[in-house]
Amino acid sequence: MKVFKFGGASVKDAEGVKNVSSIINNHKGNELLVVVSAMGKITNQLEELTRAYLNGQDDIQHIFEAIKLYHFNVLHELFADHNHPVFDDVMNTFVEIDWLIEEEPDDAPDYIYDQIVSIGELVSSKILAAWLGTLRSGVKWLDARSFVHTDNTYREGLVNWEKTEVEIQKKLVPVLQQNIAVTQGFIGSTSENFTTTLGRDGSDYSAAIFSACLNAESLTIWKDVPGVLNADPKWFDETERIPQLSYHDAIELAYYGATIIHPKTIKPIQNKSIPLYVRSFLQPDAEGTDITDLKNHLPVPSFIFKVNQALLSIFPKDFSFIIEENLSEIFSLFHKHRVKINTMLNSAISFSISFDYDARKLDKLMADLSKDYKVKYNTGVELVTIRYYNQETIDRVTVNKNILLEVKSRNTCQIVMRDK
Ligand code: ASP
Ligand code: MG
Repeated sequence: MKVFKFGGASVKDAEGVKNVSSIINNHKGNELLVVVSAMGKITNQLEELTRAYLNGQDDIQHIFEAIKLYHFNVLHELFADHNHPVFDDVMNTFVEIDWLIEEEPDDAPDYIYDQIVSIGELVSSKILAAWLGTLRSGVKWLDARSFVHTDNTYREGLVNWEKTEVEIQKKLVPVLQQNIAVTQGFIGSTSENFTTTLGRDGSDYSAAIFSACLNAESLTIWKDVPGVLNADPKWFDETERIPQLSYHDAIELAYYGATIIHPKTIKPIQNKSIPLYVRSFLQPDAEGTDITDLKNHLPVPSFIFKVNQALLSIFPKDFSFIIEENLSEIFSLFHKHRVKINTMLNSAISFSISFDYDARKLDKLMADLSKDYKVKYNTGVELVTIRYYNQETIDRVTVNKNILLEVKSRNTCQIVMRDK
C-alpha cells in the first residue's frame, strides 16, 4: 500500500490534472491512496471569501463567482461531455457555501473559516477522481472527514490518532484492496461531524497521517521542485538537491521553515519507519530526495530564510532576573496568542524571540506582556537558519546585514538580521 500526495501547484489547471492523473495511472499495482490539495491558490481565495463574509463586504458574491469560475473552466477544458456527473457534483459542493453565506455570520470565525475553506480540497479531489476515472476503472473518491478525526480546534484540528487509525484500518484498507482512492488533504472532522482543517499547508501532514495509519510501504510527495534542495532557489543562485536525507535532518529543516515539507509530516512517518520520497511532478522519473532513517547527516550546509519576522525583547520592569517563573508566564502568553517561536535567547534580564510577523497577534501579545514587562520590538527583520554551518557560510549570508541576534548549537546557527 502506497500513498501519493499532490499539492495545489500540481493541479492548478486542466493540464496539471491530466499530468497528475497520468502519474497515478502509471503506478504499478492498485493499492494506492492519493491525497490532493485545493487547486492552485484557491485556499487563499477561499480565505478571502471567508473574510468578506465575516466583515459583511459587498464583494462577497464577486469573490465566490471567481472561485466557481476557476473550477468550471478546468472542468470544461477536461470534459467535452458537459453532462458528466462531476459538473453537478462540484456545483452541489459549492452550494454548501451558498447555504452558509445566506445566514448572518453568528458562529465562531474559526469554525466558519473551516466550513468554507475546506471546500477547496473537496472540489479538487472530485475533479481529479473524475478525470482519473476516464483513464481507468477502479477509482474511488473518498471523503477524508470519515477517516481523519480531530478535536474541535478549528483551523488547527488536533488529530485523534486512535479513532483515526481504527477508521482507516476498518474502512479504508478494504477499499484500497480493490481501488485507487482519491481523497483530500488538509481536512478532518470533529466527533459531531463538523469539518475542521489542520492548518495551512496541512495536506502533507494529512498524507503522513494516512500513511502511518495504513502502515504504508512509502509516502511520495510530488512537488514542483526536483527534491529537497539545500536552499530555496528564491534566495540562492546555487542550490543543490539532497539525494538522501535522514528523518532527523528533514524534521530540523522543516521545523526551521524549509517550505518543502510541512513540519508535522515527519513524526508520524518516522515513528513507523515509512520512507518519504520527494519527487517532481514535472519530471516524474527523476531521482528526487529519499527521506529515511539514514544515520549520516547532510552532506552540505543547508540554508533556510524567513523574511518578515518580528523580533521581540522582553525585560522585567523591576530589573529582576528572567528565571523559570517569568519564563513560564511568558511562554503561556505565546501559547495563548498562538505565537510560534522561531528563535529565542535569554540573558539575565532580557528574553528575546523572533516569530512570523502578524500585526494582530503582535498587538495582543504586547498588550498582555506590557502589564509586567518592558517590551521592545523590531519588525521587517530576517531570520536565516544554517544547518551544518561554518564561519564561511555565516559570512556569506550576513554580507551587508546588521546582526541583531545570533544563536548557535552544535549543528545549527540562527541569525536574526536586517539590511544595513
Ligand atoms: N490547501 C491548503 C493550503 O493551501 C492545504 C495544502 O495545500 O497543503 O494551505
Ligand atoms: Mg499547498
